[in-house]
Amino acid sequence: MRVVRSATDLRLEGSVGLVPTMGAFHEGHLSLFRAARAENDTVVVSLFLNAAQFGPGEDLERYPRDDERDARLAEQEGVDVLFAPAADEIYPPGFQTWVEVEELGSILEGEHRPGHFRAVATVCLKLFNLVHPDRAYFGQKDAQQAEVVKRMVGDLAVPVEIRVCPTQRDEDGLALSSRNAYLSAEERERALALPRALQAQDRSLLNGLKVDYFEVANFEPRVLAAAVRVGGTRLIDNVILEGDNR
Ligand code: AMP
Repeated sequence: MRVVRSATDLRLEGSVGLVPTMGAFHEGHLSLFRAARAENDTVVVSLFLNAAQFGPGEDLERYPRDDERDARLAEQEGVDVLFAPAADEIYPPGFQTWVEVEELGSILEGEHRPGHFRAVATVCLKLFNLVHPDRAYFGQKDAQQAEVVKRMVGDLAVPVEIRVCPTQRDEDGLALSSRNAYLSAEERERALALPRALQAQDRSLLNGLKVDYFEVANFEPRVLAAAVRVGGTRLIDNVILEGDNR
């Protein structure tokens, strides 16, 4: 596996699959690497902690980072190129162009994290323009993110196919997330209410947690999506609604 710091050194061959990430890899990330590996000649994983998509007071400073472990895991999964650009390659001096997915980007997560999806859509378009992937891979765990990216790609005729892969969960049902590392044992136990409430479609199971939203979203596929706070940690999850399973 090559670790590449600048897009000028990418030199990719054949069909290219891109998996955009912010690092701190877990089985959710690895499942995307495998999906990309199965469908493309060359697999590129981007590792870029996109500060712009964190709001003031969010967890940017404490977001888990372990570049060496990430490189080792990516290599084990057969990733060809780990693309870890510097911040000023993504946002060059004088940067002032942003992609706004107006409606989809302002509901649910967007309502609670103003500016989040504008930064997500912008970094994804930038990565697509640097890497020129044939396919890009996203997790159903972040259903609204996948929907925003699909909308942007359709609206702006970006020549990339978007693949959305199933949510990976721990044995106890909690969706894997880099942010699970923040949870104490006691908080993790309380966090299990999130997958349980979604599975049962019963908001009352979240009593005692601070709920940002628990709502059906008319995405493709339709989901019941929720965000909760457990102590100082904000968690999101969703389930695909019956009859919409692909
Ligand atoms: P992140 O590094 O958190 O930005 O995530 C990178 C990609 O991995 C995104 O497309 C996420 O939706 C996806 N992802 C994160 N957690 C999971 C999970 N538990 N199952 C499947 N995909 C996931």
